[in-house]
Amino acid sequence: MGNAQEIFNRDHKYFAEAGRIPYYPLIIDYAHGATLTDIDGKEYIDLLSSASSQNVGHTPEKVVKAIQEQTSKMIHYTPAYMYHEPLANLSEKLCELSPGKFNKKVLFGLTGSDACDGIIKFSRAYTGRPYIISFTNAYHGSTFGSISLSAISLNMRKKIGPLLPGVYHIPFPDNYRGMYGSTESNTIDEYLAPLKEMFEKYLPPDEVACVIVETIQGDGGLLEPVEGYFEALEKLCKEHGILIAVDDIQQGMGRTGKWSSIEHFNFEPDLVAYGKSLAGGMPMSAIVGREEIMDSLASPAHLFTMGANPVSCAAALATLEMLEEDKLVDKAAVKGKYAKKYMENWIDKFEFVGDVRGLGLSIGIDIVKDKQSKERDNLAALKICNRCYERGVVIIAVAGNVLRFQPPLVITDKELDKALNILTETMEELRDGKLDGYQVEGQGW
Ligand code: PMP
Repeated sequence: MGNAQEIFNRDHKYFAEAGRIPYYPLIIDYAHGATLTDIDGKEYIDLLSSASSQNVGHTPEKVVKAIQEQTSKMIHYTPAYMYHEPLANLSEKLCELSPGKFNKKVLFGLTGSDACDGIIKFSRAYTGRPYIISFTNAYHGSTFGSISLSAISLNMRKKIGPLLPGVYHIPFPDNYRGMYGSTESNTIDEYLAPLKEMFEKYLPPDEVACVIVETIQGDGGLLEPVEGYFEALEKLCKEHGILIAVDDIQQGMGRTGKWSSIEHFNFEPDLVAYGKSLAGGMPMSAIVGREEIMDSLASPAHLFTMGANPVSCAAALATLEMLEEDKLVDKAAVKGKYAKKYMENWIDKFEFVGDVRGLGLSIGIDIVKDKQSKERDNLAALKICNRCYERGVVIIAVAGNVLRFQPPLVITDKELDKALNILTETMEELRDGKLDGYQVEGQGW
């Protein structure tokens, strides 16, 4: 096995830059539960869960066993032409678990991005309308459709246009900062005003197929919505026959202390995208929607040779079983509440902790220059990330300055306390001016 520096250099030479958002050079050798071990044997507490794709923890016995058993029976046969039992079982299970009191159908893909593409297709097909509304700061993925829905990074959009036509973006109803540079969050009416203006002046609402939204905007900075916004949005959409789709790829699968994050709110989306933790880290995404919407595209409008891979299906069934049997969703709620309460002390203690927000084990810590201006302090956030890495805690920042706290739901109380202590000590060091000298140039979003 090569040493860390040698592997890092070879990666740099051959792996294209566009495929990574660089932080620190952690080369992981193996991972169990909430612990990562690098190739030099050093251990880290994982507060990132591989971008929320390891909610049931790394290499859990049940998922590993399901993968091994299925692999020895059949690695793959494409659902485009044939059938297999894990697929039927998983389809039924997901339709049962996904929120919404209506008949549902599901379709599988390989990664969250393609599920968001599918949402564009299904909503256009069902409504016969061309336009889609999405939100600024949203990240929905890296395929052409999902990039077109996203509005988070110029580098994602530079040099590759034209993107998909017919996508409009409105401000996310951020509960901490407001629209257009305002330090105070806006009201529901204010947040809906840009959409209403569109509908009055340049976007006929009866030509809009769908609004796609995250309940908590993940990569956009773990933003919580102002209370009541989704309910008001749903009302407006219903008036105009516009579908609502939720991207639950990052916030779903128990992450927020509910099976789906939609259950925290009082609205009923027509389509939902799942991914990331769905198959315990195996490649898989899903769109679950109203039966009549999912029947609006005919064969073969949305299929993938490698979709609904039996190994991924078996892993997903084991993952869903683990969430249920090990009560991981409830545990996420309890541990999340504990962690958030602990973190709220940081707001009093440190001028640079502007906000702690989120649900369950999906928490954002907003690092600011000062509480008044709420100006983002990306450099300070990166210093914290780098120092934590040195001390054996893996955490990154989204939206430049928001620490992303999303450990596997199986994190032990001991690990949680240790990580929280290290974070506190790191913030004390930052306050005392002891965290200079990190090479943060080029790191982060
Ligand atoms: N939607 C959301 C909300 C996400 O957080 C992500 C990934 N960060 C995606 C979609 C894209 O998923 P994937 O990278 O699996 O294509």
